[in-house]
Amino acid sequence: MPPEVKSATTSSQSRTSKSVSAAFDTDIQYVKGVGPGLGALLKSRGLTTVRDLLYFFPRAYEDRTRILRVAEVKEGEPASVAVTVRSCRQIPLRRTGKRILEVRAGDESGTLSLKWFHAPRGMEARFTVGAQIMVTGTAKRYLGQLEIIHPEISWGVSSSTEHVGRVVPIYTELEGISSRVLRKILWEALEKYATSLTEDLPEVFRSRHSLPRLADAVQTIHFPPDTDIQALIDFKAPSHLRLIYEEFLKFEFLVLRQRLKMQREAAPAFGASGGRQAVNELEKLLPFQLTGDQRRCVEEILKELSEPHPMNRLIQGDVGSGKTAVAFLTAACVLVEGSQAALMAPTEILAEQHFHNAVRLFGGRLNVALLTGKTPGSERTRLLARLASGEPLLLIGTHALLEEPVEFRSLDYILIDEQHRFGVEQRRTLRQKGTRIASDTGQTRFPHTLILTATPIPRTLALTAYGDLVISSIRELPPGRTPVATTIVRERGQRARAYDKIREELRKGHQAYFIYPLVNDSEAEGFTQLKSAVAESERLQREVFPEFKVGLLHGQQRPDEKAAIMDRYKRRELDILVSTTVVEVGVDVPNATIMVVEHAERFGLSQLHQLRGRVGRGSSQSYCFLFAAERTGEATQARLDVLEETNDGFKIAEADLEIRGPGEFLGTRQSGGLPFKLANLVRDQEWLLKARDDAAWLLKNDPDLQLVEHRPLHRFYEREGNLQFERLKTS
Ligand code: ADP
Ligand code: MG
Repeated sequence: MPPEVKSATTSSQSRTSKSVSAAFDTDIQYVKGVGPGLGALLKSRGLTTVRDLLYFFPRAYEDRTRILRVAEVKEGEPASVAVTVRSCRQIPLRRTGKRILEVRAGDESGTLSLKWFHAPRGMEARFTVGAQIMVTGTAKRYLGQLEIIHPEISWGVSSSTEHVGRVVPIYTELEGISSRVLRKILWEALEKYATSLTEDLPEVFRSRHSLPRLADAVQTIHFPPDTDIQALIDFKAPSHLRLIYEEFLKFEFLVLRQRLKMQREAAPAFGASGGRQAVNELEKLLPFQLTGDQRRCVEEILKELSEPHPMNRLIQGDVGSGKTAVAFLTAACVLVEGSQAALMAPTEILAEQHFHNAVRLFGGRLNVALLTGKTPGSERTRLLARLASGEPLLLIGTHALLEEPVEFRSLDYILIDEQHRFGVEQRRTLRQKGTRIASDTGQTRFPHTLILTATPIPRTLALTAYGDLVISSIRELPPGRTPVATTIVRERGQRARAYDKIREELRKGHQAYFIYPLVNDSEAEGFTQLKSAVAESERLQREVFPEFKVGLLHGQQRPDEKAAIMDRYKRRELDILVSTTVVEVGVDVPNATIMVVEHAERFGLSQLHQLRGRVGRGSSQSYCFLFAAERTGEATQARLDVLEETNDGFKIAEADLEIRGPGEFLGTRQSGGLPFKLANLVRDQEWLLKARDDAAWLLKNDPDLQLVEHRPLHRFYEREGNLQFERLKTS
């Protein structure tokens, strides 16, 4: 596991250049106004040094320059009002014994109700009738009355205290430390240390983009001037842009350097000794014609395989776009020239499906083998011997491929399907199995790697988290597919109608999936969800579709149970498959034309799109019903609407990134987030592109950062190490 890195600017253990950074390493307790007590508190919140403090940036800004009258307060909009306390009372809650504090306060234009559900003890005593207060918060209407829950209060009204009458930075709450105190010590720290903030950013870039100096930027990000308030609120003030750009530049330089380094490593070349012809011949055996995009991808891959450097490529193609055929064909090139290949899939169902397809598509002409957790011992032993002997084959399997006894003699091509289901470590393990010292030259040779994903990677992520990979896209779907008709179902009446439609399809001999959310990393949560899938399968069978056969598939069944259910479904012995997201990836049953997702609001867009991709695989019209809670927020509504409107996975991925952030795309658990403190991939796209260009220029002109104007940047990397890398997808 990579060490925990908080951010690009977190201080690291080993410092090589003391002089420049020493001041910032000063213990936070020595900042004027801090001292040992508050110091300890700050440290317990992760703020240890002056640097940590200065880089503890506001998470938002609020415009409190204008103080409103009560009558001007609008529902749902943040407002500051100067009011007089009219009354104050505690409302006991009968059931819990807790109390709500309610203060009524107003001006000549009206009255507001202010409420606290967890008022600090003794707070009520401060609201004496007639007291002047400044209230800031967002009002809503309750029983016809405007009220603000947990407003911020300033005592005594003057038009410009520190906290109102200006733009106020909002910090992430540090328990026990008020914003007021935080601002005071920040002020002290800036006074004393801001001038010693060193510029890491090469001057040429700073002036090219007209960005302020670091010291100015850090100063004004905490204590912004009152000009251009909107820019501040949008994180587009010059100080923001400066720091955002710097984060991107520092990251992109590392990403590009890593990519260059990998591109220079050695790998065996393929294609010239019969591999290419073999691919052409196998292609002719396929029961279909490759689409233009598939053919282009095959070409791109073959070209890279023919070079003596490892390929590190990602194919992104929407569900059903036919990535597997591309994977198989290119594997053939490697096999024919005497090497081995391994294709790892996230589930047994999928591995088996790939295996059968490989056999079916090429009429046995592609040498494939299957290894999963349920491969019997004797067969496994034989298989391991074949691998050790160096027999050229494509081994298809699950995580079982990663186990220690699975050793290859000449694994030169690694294929990973549905990459987001795997962690960085797992990909590394497989890559390790193919890394060898060449006996003739003594040189280390790396395998080629092809990663497949059905979740398109938005451009910004392609440049950051996936920046070390070359990307091929398949946008075109095989001919004859009809787009899936998607309906969002919210109300009871609509549900009954959906069931009717489903019944009609089933009567025609088609099949349906019913999917329930199952959260696979929490046992407890998984269990409750599982129960509902189980219970629902019974209910559907008994009450809704008694005339059809309902089967149940979920992640906690034994592998052989799962396979048996899946087989029955494929053979049409089951009409309805109730399942969890086990079927999300890759499963291919063309006769299924109905996809129902319950609690659709709980899934990510890309995940729903994946699920929807399980249908629409044959020539008949398919339908997707997304059952959502009757009352969901506007944001959820908007999210689901995207799916109703488009079938384009690329558009959906962009929307998903915008709404849910990059977490969804960075795969499961292991990967951590991107190390940006301020930068946001969606909002700051434009600056990412600038930084990317500048980083490329730097890498071309002074890759080792030896020029005097690049020394500060060099020292930065010396100081902070290359930890940011650990977050990349492959390496
Ligand atoms: P995915 O990209 O989602 O992994 P698959 O590789 O599983 O998609 O392909 C989906 C289905 O489309 C499979 O049944 C496959 O055999 C079929 N297929 C792939 N390429 C073509 C093509 N060019 N024309 C027709 N069918 C194709
Ligand atoms: Mg697939």
